[in-house]
Formats: sequence, structure tokens, C-alpha cells
Amino acid sequence: MNQYIKSLKDENKLNISIDKSNTFDWKYTKIAGPCSVEGPEIVDIAKSIKSLGANAFRAGAYKPCTYPILEEINGWQEGLREDGLELLHEVRQEVDIPIVTEVMDASMIADVGAVADVFQIGTRNFQNYTLLDALGKTDKPVLLKRGTWGTIDEILGACERILVGGNRNIAICLRGVVGMPSYRHVFNSIRWAPDLMMIPALKELTNIPIIFDPSHSTGYRNFVPSMSKAAIAAGADGLIIEAHPTPDKSISDAAQAINYKTLKEIFHG
Ligand code: PEP
Ligand code: MN
Repeated sequence: MNQYIKSLKDENKLNISIDKSNTFDWKYTKIAGPCSVEGPEIVDIAKSIKSLGANAFRAGAYKPCTYPILEEINGWQEGLREDGLELLHEVRQEVDIPIVTEVMDASMIADVGAVADVFQIGTRNFQNYTLLDALGKTDKPVLLKRGTWGTIDEILGACERILVGGNRNIAICLRGVVGMPSYRHVFNSIRWAPDLMMIPALKELTNIPIIFDPSHSTGYRNFVPSMSKAAIAAGADGLIIEAHPTPDKSISDAAQAINYKTLKEIFHG
């Protein structure tokens, strides 16, 4: 077993600070927002998401998809990319809420870091060691999303890879894993199996905060409220949820996006 990670269990709880006052509490972290930055309305969306109880805002300027072929929809090419970062700059200026957004490559850390309060490592980059090493040398919090294939030792190993670089502000995000395609022929959008038991399993071994993603792990909006409750009951330190003002019109991940009313119920329920 990974001795470095095990030793963390004996220390004070690892903290991640993502607000400007340095007092951000992962218990209980409420990150929400649309899958991707879709256009200038992102500023109003961020205001609404904050008013619904979120204490951090998510939206991807870069949106790599699991199916690797690039899809273009009106200038949106797996995200608005640099234009999306520009829009997140506006969010930053106008809304007082920490921003969580994905960085796909070590060469993009400076540009993404200019708008992000938390670097998100996407599932596909869970074992991109160049990226993990580079983020280990930054002082910004990192939300590491588990690869859909990742075993518990690989999750802890990926964390270690960041921690040994010196950055101790990390959290693990569980977002569903490869499983039996038990639901597929009825619920077309379900691709992954929620990895809820990994929450208590990781808690046995480490104090690194655990954030659960009920959106990607279910792929289906009607299951997001119950899986959110289940994750908190299992000991998760927070949630990251995809929400959209008009969920069916989301450019990416529409089937799992919830509306504002449901988001409010989850955060206040
Ligand atoms: C996301 O949360 O924006 C995302 C792309 O999810 P994942 O990396 O887990 O597929
Ligand atoms: Mn998504």
C-alpha cells in the first residue's frame, strides 16, 4: 500500500482553500454550473448558481469528450476554448464565486490559471503524469477526477504524484466508472456506474477531501438528487453538479443537466 498517502491520514485534515479569504470549507462543498461555457449568458448563469446555494462555480471552456472525435457545433469545438476562457474572465470580474474549470495540458496552466480558482483534471487526464507533475508545482487547488478505470491504488498514486510536487491543496472527484451496461437499453444516456463505495474506502486511507459528481456518474438527471444524497450519506465532503437554466438545450451533457429548482432542492434539502 502507498505509504506516502497512508501517512497523510495521521496528519491534520488536508485543507483546500478555494476562496479569497482562504477559509473555504470542503465540508460541505457545493460546486455547480453547466457542463460547458456556451456563450455570454454564462455571467448571468453564474449569478443564479450562486444564489441557489453553490459556493463554487463550474463550467468548462475546454470540454474533451469521452468519444475522441472532435465535434463542432456553431463554433463550439469541445468547448469555446480560448473564447470560453475570456468569458470566464467576465464571470470572475462580475460574480464573487470561485471558478472550477478544466486544464487539459501542462502548457495551458498559465492561461487557465488566470481564470480558475481550482484546476480540474478531467477523467481522461487522470494519469497524464506531465500534467499531474506540473500541477504539483502550482499553489492552486486541484480537483482530480478519477479515471473511469482507476483502481483505489491508482487514485491514491495520482494524488501522490501531485502532492510530492509540493501542492497539498487537492481533492478527489468520483465521477462514475466503467461497469456493466445494465441500464443502457432503457436509459440511453447512462454510461457509468456511480462509485459510491469508493467514498468510505478512500476515507479509510486518506484525509484528502472527496467530492462526488452525481451528474457524470449517473448520466441521467432524474437520478442526480438521490445519488447526491447517497454520496453525502456515505461521507462525501461535497458535490459537483451540472445544472443549466434550460437543461435540454445544453450543448454538452444535456441528459444529465438539472434545472435550477432541482439544484436548489439538493443544496437546501
Ligand atoms: C467535467 O466535469 O466537465 C467532465 C468533462 O467530466 P469528466 O472529466 O469526469 O468526464
Ligand atoms: Mn459534462
